[in-house]
Amino acid sequence: MRDKKEEARFIGEPEKVIQMDPAMVVEWTRAFLHRHTYGKLTPFFKGLQEGRLLATRCNNAKCSENRLWLPARADCPDCHKPMDWEEIPQPVIGTIYTYTRVAYGGTGLEISEPYWQIDVELPGVCTIFKGWLKYGEPRIGMKVRAEFQKVPTNTILNIYWVPHNG
Ligand SMILES: [Zn+2]
Repeated sequence: MRDKKEEARFIGEPEKVIQMDPAMVVEWTRAFLHRHTYGKLTPFFKGLQEGRLLATRCNNAKCSENRLWLPARADCPDCHKPMDWEEIPQPVIGTIYTYTRVAYGGTGLEISEPYWQIDVELPGVCTIFKGWLKYGEPRIGMKVRAEFQKVPTNTILNIYWVPHNG
């Protein structure tokens, strides 16, 4: 509870005015630190750092859901037991299921625009894995190969796709 004598006050820094006419424009600096835990999905992100793509499978003998999931699920959506990690064999080669061109990705995006966002089907995986094509023109049915950043981003952007010829 605020004391009656206390009053709310501005605690920021004045924004820099970069133009007054014909309209006033300020440089509105916004930066923040966001701490994010990968929690039970930590093995997935560690795998990306190591150039490995990890998916999960439920190995509960009493559960009917035993397909390979990617993006990984830490716990089985059907029986709620922890799932087991499985590495997708190297080289990781998938097929473009669909794609879209991203011209304006929005605030915080760390991929240069424009770029191709692609949805990739992987053998044995029951889900579609979303990603980005580093170069080339996508088409549905095209084979793509996973590559990993040499300097890890420590995010999902650590994995990207390139056209796979052969
Ligand atoms: Zn299960």
